[in-house]
Parts: sequence; structure tokens; C-alpha cells
Amino acid sequence: MKTPEITRHGKENGEGMVVHYRTARGTDVFGLGVPNIYSNTDWDLGPTWCYLVLGDRTTLIDTGRRGNVEVLQNLLKATGKRPSDIDRIVVSHSHEDHDGNLADLLPVSQAELGAHTIYSQMIAYHTHVQDGARHPDLPGSCRMCFMPEIVRRECLPYHQRRSALKLDFAIQDGETTSDGSLRFLFTPGHSPDAVCVVLDDEVIFTGDTVLPDITSHPSSVSFFHANRLVLPEEYRAENQVYGLLNYIKSLSSLASISPNPIPAFPAHRLFYNSQFNLISDVSHRARDIIQFHLDRCRAILEIIGDGTISLEEIAVRHFPSALLQGMGKTMALNEILTHLELLQDCGDVQLLGEKGDKAKRTGLEGYAKTIQQHLLGS
Ligand SMILES: [Zn+2]
Repeated sequence: MKTPEITRHGKENGEGMVVHYRTARGTDVFGLGVPNIYSNTDWDLGPTWCYLVLGDRTTLIDTGRRGNVEVLQNLLKATGKRPSDIDRIVVSHSHEDHDGNLADLLPVSQAELGAHTIYSQMIAYHTHVQDGARHPDLPGSCRMCFMPEIVRRECLPYHQRRSALKLDFAIQDGETTSDGSLRFLFTPGHSPDAVCVVLDDEVIFTGDTVLPDITSHPSSVSFFHANRLVLPEEYRAENQVYGLLNYIKSLSSLASISPNPIPAFPAHRLFYNSQFNLISDVSHRARDIIQFHLDRCRAILEIIGDGTISLEEIAVRHFPSALLQGMGKTMALNEILTHLELLQDCGDVQLLGEKGDKAKRTGLEGYAKTIQQHLLGS
């Protein structure tokens, strides 16, 4: 993959940067580094990279974290474009670091809005559905939010405004835009409504589904139980969109996307520590991430050994203590939980205790084989 050209310099983590890339077919792509909440903490994801794709129609993929619409407009300006030049906005998934400026940008751009069908349910309120969600008063995307109270409160106006938005086109897996330039892939797991966008059969925008040098957090299967009735009818019977197993399934579809290397543009860490983190082949990176999760399953089984051990104890033994401070601990616990859910589904682990937060091995070890079967069956 050729290195994108920096057309506007920013911080060393990529914040405030604009980069330019031209596909072999001559389509211009601009990456815009919009500031993100975790910047300058131990959990610095780096900015959210939003991508402006110029073609017959101008498309913006993602809008960055809420509260940054002016920054976004300035970055657009650096590409020579105004919001009114955007014909359509595609949202990779319903997390606030991706659709945060949508409600501000849509009216000024008059662009069409596209996202996966599930996205409509994620931005809407479903207060009548009380199936164990932590926050049934929040929209579909955040009913299981584990962020601190203060973050949740700050999000309320954003939720309100976002809930009024309507999709102009609902994305289905495999669908192509009428001009043929963009193809959408449904890749649930990190988020139930995650999509990737393939441009000119040549490059792919992966949102948070495939990131360089870090792995995104899988959602928890428990979200499915709390949100089942929030999902569109066709996703209610069995869990196809939440949890590590579904995430691995999505990664596996990306791993076999093309016999040719397809470079990926991720939503985080495209540029970090003053250098590019290029993903020259999305399939290769997707396979690495699957292996990463298999290795983590193995490590967790080893930690459990022949005892009964709490989720928290597993996290303490698995992660370096520096990663277990503040929000880091919540993230780490979620990470362990999603792997334990997978190991439980595969019959290798039993979750015990009132809260199901203690793990014991069953004596079986079939997770690798089950994943293999799951993938072959897909
Ligand atoms: Zn993100």
C-alpha cells in the first residue's frame, strides 16, 4: 500500500491531520483526524479517522466524536470542500466517536444518511423493553453502557438529537451503491450494526472492525439478551450480531474477501506516535486479530487452571496492572467476559455464582475447533 500524503499536519497521535490517498482508479480519499475522548490518557485510541471519498458523489464515512463539528468542518475545509459538498454520509456503527457530529452535520450538508438497518434501532429509545438492560432509558446502542455516570450524562443531549434522525438508505450486506463505487459489508461483533465499506474493489474502510496495532472490544453476548426485542425482527431468534464469536465470524469473512491484498483504512490509529500504521492487506490483519483472540482464550484457560476463579482475578492475572486503572479496569473486565462467554458457548468453561462472574473449566477444550466449524459453516 502506498503511504498517504499528509496535506495538513496535526498532533503526533494524528489529531487534526488531513491525509490524501488516490486509488488506482483515480478516486481521491481524504482521511480527517477528528479528536476523540480517550486522547492523552492511558487508553488513547487516537482520533477517529473520518474519510471523505470524492467520486461521482461525495461520501463522508463517519463524523467523529460528538462536540467536534467545528473541527470536522475545518478539516473538510483543508480538503477544499464544504459540508454542502457532501452528498451522503455513511455511519460505520452507532458509537458516539463515529456518529457524534452527525446531527450537527446533516442539516448543514443536506446529505443523505446511510447505515445498517440495525442502526435505526440503536439510535431509537425502547423504554418499554426491560429485559435486563442496565439503562433501559437510553437508546438501543447504550442500554448496556458501562461508562462512568458522568460520561453517560454528557451524552444525553447527543442521544436526544440523534434519535430524531432517519436513514435515507438502509445498508444490507453485500449491497453496492447505484454508481457501483461503494460496496457495503455487514461485520457485526464490535457493534451489532457495524459495516465496512469497499471502494472501487480496491480499498476498504473498516470502522472499528479492523484496527492496526490494537484490537477493538467485542460486544458481550449479554447485550443480545437485553436488546433482543430492540433488534429488527429478523435478528431476534438467535444471536447473530453480538459477542466475540460473531465478531470472529465477521473477521473471517474479511479474511477471505479477495485473493488480492486489499489495503484498509481504519477508524483509529491510522497515524500514531508520529507514524503511519498501514494495513496493506485487510485479510492478513483480520487473521492476526482472530489469532489474537484464540491466544487470549488459551491464556484465560491456563489462568483458570483447575480452580474456580472470578472474572476480576482473571483480569488481574492477565493484564499488566497499569492497564487496570480507572476505565481501563472496566474495559479489561469486559474483555475477559467476552472471552469467557465464547469459552462457555464452546463448552470449555462453566460460569458460576449469582452474577455468573466465576469461571471453572469443564475439562473439555473445544474452542478452537468450534470456531473453525463456525467459520466453515458461515
Ligand atoms: Zn471507535
